[in-house]
Amino acid sequence: MALTFDDGYANNLDILPVLADFQAGATFFVLTGGEGETLSHHQPRHVPLMGRRGWRTLHDAGFEVAAHGHSHRRLTELSVAEQEQEIAGSIQTLRETLGVASVGYAYPYGAMDPSSHLLAKEYSEYACATRYRNPLKEDRWRLRRINISAADEGRRFGLKTGTPFRLLCDLGC
Ligand SMILES: [Zn+2]
Repeated sequence: MALTFDDGYANNLDILPVLADFQAGATFFVLTGGEGETLSHHQPRHVPLMGRRGWRTLHDAGFEVAAHGHSHRRLTELSVAEQEQEIAGSIQTLRETLGVASVGYAYPYGAMDPSSHLLAKEYSEYACATRYRNPLKEDRWRLRRINISAADEGRRFGLKTGTPFRLLCDLGC
């Protein structure tokens, strides 16, 4: 199992002591555009994106910092050239900032099409969808994730992370 956090909110840094308590690794898929800005489509809306200093803090603490695009635009609504800018541009920014050789990628909204899939293969080490409805475990550029949000508390969290749900996902639900 791998823990991942999307978007790169500044308050992602608050989770580091908790991860340390559990000796848990994690990957942070960050947006490389709009440092200090907030995202209009996500809660909490008032939390800014962390930017380069935050990425370095995560990287120096031993966590993986990977790309989530520049602007969180839905790739399936973009031209191939725009998709390439989002994917390759964000990966290149992280390579230059952190001095890492390879970078993973997560499709914003989990939205992908054949061209974004090909571009992810060309530029990234691996790529993740957002939703659990992705049965292709053998494809490293279409890795499945279980989406956990702030609404998934208590019993709901238990259900989404439990074995029956994972088995359903394996069937391609
Ligand atoms: Zn996102």
